[in-house]
Amino acid sequence: MESYANGKWNSRAPVVRILTCKVCNEPAPLYGVTDFNKSCEERRGRYLPLTGVPVYYHRCDSCGLIFTSAFDHWSKGDYLQHIYNDDYVLVDPDYIDTRPAGNAVLILDFIKKGHALRCLDYGGGNGKLTSLLREGGVDGHSWDPMDEGGASPSGSFDFISAFEVLEHTPEPLATIQRALGLLNGRGVLLLSTLTIDHVSPRGMDNWYIAPRNGHITLYTRRSLQTMFAGFGYRVHHFNDNLHMALKDDPSWLS
Ligand SMILES: [Zn+2]
Repeated sequence: MESYANGKWNSRAPVVRILTCKVCNEPAPLYGVTDFNKSCEERRGRYLPLTGVPVYYHRCDSCGLIFTSAFDHWSKGDYLQHIYNDDYVLVDPDYIDTRPAGNAVLILDFIKKGHALRCLDYGGGNGKLTSLLREGGVDGHSWDPMDEGGASPSGSFDFISAFEVLEHTPEPLATIQRALGLLNGRGVLLLSTLTIDHVSPRGMDNWYIAPRNGHITLYTRRSLQTMFAGFGYRVHHFNDNLHMALKDDPSWLS
């Protein structure tokens, strides 16, 4: 925990009461504050010791985006040191096996009518999901921005999955633009991120607002729609967690 007392934290930017929404540019007043160590595991009754480091979140008056600017100045090294470190598995135990296995089943079913689709798992972490897809005969590729040695994907893809990715970015528009830039004209982006469309009076208690998990941008259905519409895409919501962005329905999607 010593690292929390070092200059990185002390030099963080002053808190501003009203920021500009990172999706729609409308005013986003201060929404609440939580400790850096708030994690998604709190919903399972597991609490990390508090760090004393406050992380402030803002919420857009217009599209409902909830976000913090606390990590805007962080380098990849900062993220690897403080969030995606050896202890990350403690706050996201499903990340290793359980989630990739479930998502592989989901994707294999989702693209079952496609023939030889070129698929990319964007933000694919340990690459487990892609290994499972390849075992299933899929032309699967994986790329993760936090992967030091990974070469950027080349060419375009028919299908891109981005599971639990968007909540981790401090730059939602840039991240989406980068992912959509890898999609071909009739391609489909399947993404998961939990939308928070109805906030309670104690909204900061929402389990998904979890800085220790790297959850720094939380969406509403409206903010997803606004963001993708800016790139000419429409969004279909299967539920609060699973969404699909596309321009035209490809023949295999029916
Ligand atoms: Zn907004």
